[in-house]
Amino acid sequence: MASISCAFLALGHVQAQSKSVYNYTEAFNPIFYTNNGNAYRSASGKPGHAYWQNAADYNIKVQLDDKSNQVSGRVSIKYTNNSPDELGYIWLQLDQNLFHEQSRGQATIPLEDSRYGSADSDFEGGFNLSNVTLGGKQATYEIIDTRMRVELPTPLAAAGGTVSLDLDFSFTVPEYGADRTGILSTKNGKVYAIAQWYPRVCVYDDILGWNTEPYTGPGEFYLEYGDYSIEITAPANHIVVAGGELLNPEEVWTSEQLSRYKKALESDKTVSIRSAAEVTAANSRPKKNSLTWKYKLHNAHDFAWASSAAFIIDGAKINKPSGKTALALSAYPVESNGNNAWERSTEYTKASIEYYSKKWMEYPYPVAVNVAANVGGMEYPALSFCGYEAKAGSLWGVTDHEFGHNWFPMIVGSNERLHAWMDEGFNSFINELSTRDFNKGEYQRTFGNRNSMTRAFSQPNLEPIMSSPQNMKERNIGTLAYYKPAYGLRLLRDEIIGAERFDRAFRSYVAAWAYKHPTPDDFFRTIENETGENLAWFWRGWFKYNWTLDQAIRSVDYEKLDPKNGAIITIENLQKLAMPVVIEATTESGKKIRKKLPVEIWQRNTSWRFKLKSTEKLTKVVIDPDNVYPDVNPENNVWPKN
Ligand SMILES: [Zn+2]
Repeated sequence: MASISCAFLALGHVQAQSKSVYNYTEAFNPIFYTNNGNAYRSASGKPGHAYWQNAADYNIKVQLDDKSNQVSGRVSIKYTNNSPDELGYIWLQLDQNLFHEQSRGQATIPLEDSRYGSADSDFEGGFNLSNVTLGGKQATYEIIDTRMRVELPTPLAAAGGTVSLDLDFSFTVPEYGADRTGILSTKNGKVYAIAQWYPRVCVYDDILGWNTEPYTGPGEFYLEYGDYSIEITAPANHIVVAGGELLNPEEVWTSEQLSRYKKALESDKTVSIRSAAEVTAANSRPKKNSLTWKYKLHNAHDFAWASSAAFIIDGAKINKPSGKTALALSAYPVESNGNNAWERSTEYTKASIEYYSKKWMEYPYPVAVNVAANVGGMEYPALSFCGYEAKAGSLWGVTDHEFGHNWFPMIVGSNERLHAWMDEGFNSFINELSTRDFNKGEYQRTFGNRNSMTRAFSQPNLEPIMSSPQNMKERNIGTLAYYKPAYGLRLLRDEIIGAERFDRAFRSYVAAWAYKHPTPDDFFRTIENETGENLAWFWRGWFKYNWTLDQAIRSVDYEKLDPKNGAIITIENLQKLAMPVVIEATTESGKKIRKKLPVEIWQRNTSWRFKLKSTEKLTKVVIDPDNVYPDVNPENNVWPKN
């Protein structure tokens, strides 16, 4: 999801600290992990030799009624229990139930504006379910808010047992669905952005058993991998795009559009499949009442789609490192077209996917579809919704961000509902590198120093990064799930570990956990094992606790009072967070001397004296000359004092 809340809003004054509150036994306590490695999750951070996860394959046939805004149909779920446990029941997520006025999520919307809805809403959305069967027989079930528990009359066998669950479902699409689904009205018709739209099996894992955290708005989703076979019937004047391979293009495009569609599959330049002028032309859609669009998607943990009579469509080929290709496709109304806006969406989508494929892991899906919607920015496998009014740098930024999510959490399937930083933070981190690369830095922006957000990150009332998104103030989500973890990874990469070593470790994490379910510990352990560094102090201070950094210069003297003998510098660590120290001294003749001290100086000291080899008087000494560390009080980083 795209971050909207501004990290700079919550600025207060951070008190300068002169007496140290640093506690080195706490900061470097060797016990960080609360669990040892086991057969399921290795201490090395990789999946263990007995790692397992369950699977859910979906076969769905639905209809969209554009008069009543209803989606209705039937889902068949084949669920496979690979766990070592027999299961007596299955839990499903019913995310549409958030949009009922009686839901828990609706009850927690504050009177002030919220991204997830309005406290005044009396929309009675949610699922209507019927004809629920297990292996063809009537099933017993119970619905609790956004969850559904289905009883299994005979337990589902461990290690490979399967069951098929079928049910009819329908719901009215909310106009504004927590900024993840909705209906945009345009002059040529409604744009339906359809997501979190069918009953989905909860993850059963070795961490919590059933992951039944309700959908209340902030937490996105956590689902099992499987194969999707989806048929969507919509009015024939609609175009239905989806995050999957279109199986029947010859049935749903006009012959002209079909030939352009085929051309797009082969073209590095964007090919128009349905132009702005053609949107209102009667012959731009087949002459029928309705059409069924057939899609499939292999090995993914969700599926989303969009439908509209108002779509302009264009596409281009995505080149993958292996030589395989995929199709970048954009769908947007005329309102989004022109003046460096959505007519460049396909170019952005292609560039983003190609960059991440080269840098981290090859893109696995057959398509990457960008849809202009009344959703600010939300990701699903192979399909993103981005704000229809976005243009220029903001459209690049949101497109690059939402497609970056294909790596976190689509390929690397972490639990978004509990650990938003593992997808939003990691994705924001890779977005910085991608934006620097795109079109020679066309949209690269630098906002002052690297550490200019330190004050926002150091607010004492900020929750820790490792809080669930439900467990933090809505205004802090942008800082805690996106900017602060991304900044932490840049710090680790660029200052502490080194870009090459860090990127290799990060790639190992992606490879080890592709199509699996990593936890925070699995990530921390992977980076430590791959780089050979004990980073407990970093994870603890930056991710687990909201600790701040204040390094200071206490004094600069000359050995035996003679500059020829070199300088003795004393530095202090005043706050609870420890970091390496970079010192730059300027000599009388203008020479600059740099010294980097590893974080280990703080393992048993709150202040540290060291010698700087020089033969002249020093005119200036500074800590962190590049302004890259999150020092909350940079005034005491300089000698002599200003
Ligand atoms: Zn996001």
